[in-house]
Amino acid sequence: MRVLITGITGFVGSHLAEYCRSLGHEVAGTMRWRSQQENLADVRDEVQLYEADLRDAYAARRVVADFRPDRIFHLAAQSFVHASWSAPAETMSTNVLCQVHLLEAVRESSPETHFHVAGSSEEYGDVLPDEVPIKETNPLRPLSPYAVSKVAQDLMGFQYFRSYGMPIVRTRAFNHEGPRRGEVFVTSSFAKQIALAEIDKAAPYLDVGNLDAKRDFTDVRDVVRAYWLLDHCEAGDVYNIGSGTAWQIGDVAKMLIDMAKVPVDIRMDPARMRPSDVPLLQADPSKFKAATGWEPEIPFETTLMDTLEYWRGRVRRTG
Ligand code: NDP
Repeated sequence: MRVLITGITGFVGSHLAEYCRSLGHEVAGTMRWRSQQENLADVRDEVQLYEADLRDAYAARRVVADFRPDRIFHLAAQSFVHASWSAPAETMSTNVLCQVHLLEAVRESSPETHFHVAGSSEEYGDVLPDEVPIKETNPLRPLSPYAVSKVAQDLMGFQYFRSYGMPIVRTRAFNHEGPRRGEVFVTSSFAKQIALAEIDKAAPYLDVGNLDAKRDFTDVRDVVRAYWLLDHCEAGDVYNIGSGTAWQIGDVAKMLIDMAKVPVDIRMDPARMRPSDVPLLQADPSKFKAATGWEPEIPFETTLMDTLEYWRGRVRRTG
């Protein structure tokens, strides 16, 4: 199969590229001229890269017409909730425009292409205590500009399916973690701080924000396996992807501190608090599991240890 991964240089995109290559598929991806390529180190010679800022409709058309993919995994996005507060317009425009340009390009030249819309659990936002674990039928009450942009992507996927019959599947994935996760995200931020403290390049403190929030974590390598199985799902439909288990951020901090080679203390950092944080996100992934037989396989402790090992290697190389 010919697989196009937008945002291939990112966290999920690079893992998905490796997984697709391991299955023997032909892989292409989009990147921007300034995108870092280090996440692709293991597959750089095996994937075709297109330089394309997908906010440019022409760039999206050029990639789709040239590569003619059988499947598109659309992962390119401004993906950081926290940054969406300081850059709401940029978040909305990037996330909405990139997808509409791609969908228009597919509609014009490759309407049979299977298209994955990468929504997020953040779309559920303000979840009531009796709505947990969250099903796909839960109301969407987004609480950040990022979440609103993901609702827009999600509903756009539905609209293109209904209007044009395009084979589009939407996911609402809960947090995924693992090596290469951007350092602005909570598990990576904690792991990097610990790795720096271990080599005396930072004070032995873990600066933290809201420790009370609970999130449903899945290893990114389990998530990309799940994405590959989307062909077993109903076109037009939407699926939660998550482990079904919620972990308190404070417990994640403690688990990583227990893995540290030096003593590390927790320190509150008000700058890490969000204007309105979602208190609890926990998936009911039963619909996706029933459609595909998928089960997450990697224990969360392994995910955290692999993330810490990744940061130990990186800070040794770059500080
Ligand atoms: P990353 O931030 O690691 O990767 C995003 C990618 O998108 C990068 O390669 C980035 O390129 C690219 N990109 C950003 N803007 C543009 C643009 N205008 N044109 C082309 N490419 C662009 O995110 P993740 O890999 O973590 O997430 C992938 C997708 O999954 C996102 O849509 C995210 O919202 C969604 N998601 C992620 C979850 C998670 O826990 N990781 C949970 C739920 C959903 P560059 O390097 O140049 O910035």
